[in-house]
Amino acid sequence: MSNANKSYDLAIIGAGIVGLSHALAATDAGLRICVIESDDRPSGASIRNFGMVWPVGMPPGEARAHALRSREIWLHVAPQAGFDARAVGSLHLARHEDERAVLHEFMQRRADGLHAEWLSPDEVARRYPGVRPDGLLGAMRAESELAIDPRHAIAAWADWLASRGVSFLWNTHAREAGQGFVQLADATRVEADHVVVCSGQDTRLLFPDVYERASVSRCKLQMLRLSAPAWRIGTHVAGGLTLRHYKAFEDCPTLPDLKQRVARENPLYDRYGIHVMAAQRADGTLVIGDSHEYDAAITPFDNATIEQMILEYLARMLDVEGLHVVNRWHGIYAKRTDGQWLVRACPTPGVTVVNALGGAGMTLAPAIAEATIAALRASTPLQGLSI
Ligand SMILES: Cc1cc2nc3c(=O)[nH]c(=O)nc-3n(C[C@H](O)[C@H](O)[C@H](O)COP(=O)(O)OP(=O)(O)OC[C@H]3O[C@@H](n4cnc5c(N)ncnc54)[C@H](O)[C@@H]3O)c2cc1C
Repeated sequence: MSNANKSYDLAIIGAGIVGLSHALAATDAGLRICVIESDDRPSGASIRNFGMVWPVGMPPGEARAHALRSREIWLHVAPQAGFDARAVGSLHLARHEDERAVLHEFMQRRADGLHAEWLSPDEVARRYPGVRPDGLLGAMRAESELAIDPRHAIAAWADWLASRGVSFLWNTHAREAGQGFVQLADATRVEADHVVVCSGQDTRLLFPDVYERASVSRCKLQMLRLSAPAWRIGTHVAGGLTLRHYKAFEDCPTLPDLKQRVARENPLYDRYGIHVMAAQRADGTLVIGDSHEYDAAITPFDNATIEQMILEYLARMLDVEGLHVVNRWHGIYAKRTDGQWLVRACPTPGVTVVNALGGAGMTLAPAIAEATIAALRASTPLQGLSI
């Protein structure tokens, strides 16, 4: 607590990827920064995710541009902070005609900046022997995705910023933020010219009115980590269910047919928002998921049916045996339900809330933070300030 009662240019609430990205951008701008974090280490959505930096899922335009800029920032930070950011790209498998059609439509009109190509089943078998060949119609390969291990990377990012002079107040809960101050739970104050609130899904407790006005929901996702002895894939893998999930594929003309077919096949895919992706860690373990359950459907208890459905779908995608579950967990993120992909709000003078990056915080936060800090320094209006 020794850094409380000091004065800073910027106070940041929350040490997830959104808070750390703002701390990086502000450090690069030469500001004196304090990061206030309730926990004794990052433990929110930012360490519970796949670690996929995923430009392929972002629609062309501003979101895609932010994703590609964030990719550059991750590659810049990783060697300095001492974690791996591997350029593994992604492989999107087609096992139905509608999946192949959507991927072709996507490649024709929405794949700018991704270096995407179509691989025939033979090419997939040659380059990725870990993919199941039976029933495979081909796959889209994109080069733009990174693999991060968030359990290590987020803590390493924080340590690196601390070594560059950022003050961290761990185990310190922010109770209120206003012009020039953050009020802490122990009744001390941090003084700062500006406060950026990056408190993830807990922002609903600090600024409930922002959540109300921006139509923000909470979403729970179930995840698994599997041992995969001596098996390597060398890329992120996604199947056809994923095409229902990301905005990037939204305008593909065949997508409604695909969605209807999936709904007929098993209504539980929609009920639990299941799609299946796999990210292999450097130690060989496979992180797989996920599901999407919103607000009232969120319980503290994980659902064995969801886990079983994810594992069964994975077994249709990948030719890997001897898997067993090493970890199970869930994460919760905040997401807007009005189709927007970000909250950047100013609920009170001197305070900016950056929130609701949904399932793309690792993909978008570094570039969004860069833009937020640049706008704050230039006192130019921020997108979303009207919220
Ligand atoms: C299972 C899962 C898989 C995902 N996969 C991906 C992926 O592969 N790629 C991708 O781009 N995105 C992914 N995401 C989304 C991404 O993880 C989130 O968008 C991102 O982590 C949100 O970051 P954040 O910093 O806003 O929140 P958090 O990481 O939750 O951090 C918020 C922090 O604020 C702290 N805090 C809260 N209130 C206070 C307070 N009052 N005082 C002090 N501290 C406070 C919390 O303790 C927490 O540490 C996934 C999310 C989940 C849950």
